[in-house]
Amino acid sequence: MVNIRKNLLPESLYSWKSPYTMKPTRIVVHNTANDASADSEIKYMLRDKSNGAQVSYHYAVDDKEIVQGLPENRIGWHAGDGANGKGNREGIAIEICYSKSGGDRFLKAEDNAVDLIVDILKRYNWGIDKVTKHQDYMKKNCPHRTLELGWDRFLNKIKSKLNNSTNNTVEDSRLDNNDIFKNIQVWYNTNYASNLGRIDEDNKFGNDTKKHLIMALQSEMNKQYKSKLNIDGIFGNASKKAFLNLKIGTKGNITRISQAFLYKKNYDPNGFDGSFGSGMLSAVKSFQSSNKLNVDGILGPSTAFKLFN
Ligand SMILES: [Zn+2]
Repeated sequence: MVNIRKNLLPESLYSWKSPYTMKPTRIVVHNTANDASADSEIKYMLRDKSNGAQVSYHYAVDDKEIVQGLPENRIGWHAGDGANGKGNREGIAIEICYSKSGGDRFLKAEDNAVDLIVDILKRYNWGIDKVTKHQDYMKKNCPHRTLELGWDRFLNKIKSKLNNSTNNTVEDSRLDNNDIFKNIQVWYNTNYASNLGRIDEDNKFGNDTKKHLIMALQSEMNKQYKSKLNIDGIFGNASKKAFLNLKIGTKGNITRISQAFLYKKNYDPNGFDGSFGSGMLSAVKSFQSSNKLNVDGILGPSTAFKLFN
């Protein structure tokens, strides 16, 4: 975990920004909806009544550090559910920075927030159900960027770190991944080996697996879209031009091969089943965000070109 630096609210501002002590029962996740650093976000919070707002929160997290502004045993004003709301009165508030523009800097901040959340869950002996979002307490699109990229995707990141750190299952999780690659290879061999050549079922997604999956993709495009592509295992401009949009609800082998490549690139589509569901939607959006593509959740020609190369 990156460093946690304290810049705590002075007691003189308690009556305005943190009038009650609390026994926390949950975490409340926010996005800042601006492009300020964690340092600036906390400094903004520490302004007094003459030039600041009443809002307060426990942590701000950016791509480089975590800054703490409130002790965990005092309340903050962040959830919008009033002076008696569970969000304000029992929640540890975490602001994830750089959500306005998103991109790599935001994703790194989100990863740092995941580490902080795992640390808090372990300290209080809480489960994943204690991770809540601002939106659970009021009608507000917060944490907007995290929601856009997929809330389940965010929870899954926390879950996998929790499991790894509590049960020492790091090696098991690596095996799971390898099983996915083996499943992909077995599926390819079953369906395409007789026409396109066999690949090793070695549990690794190497160059030969990549090439043959692109060949399978091109042969599916020729069959389904009448594309007349050379089956050369290289996803070039002709393949890009011929590629048709995949979106939520799409099913079939082209979707399935796309899932294989999402796994290869470490974006979990939540299944190698040929069905474009909500897990694949989150994975596609994350992939688009990291690759500076338009984040629309539609796997079209430009996204495909990045994914298959
Ligand atoms: Zn919020």
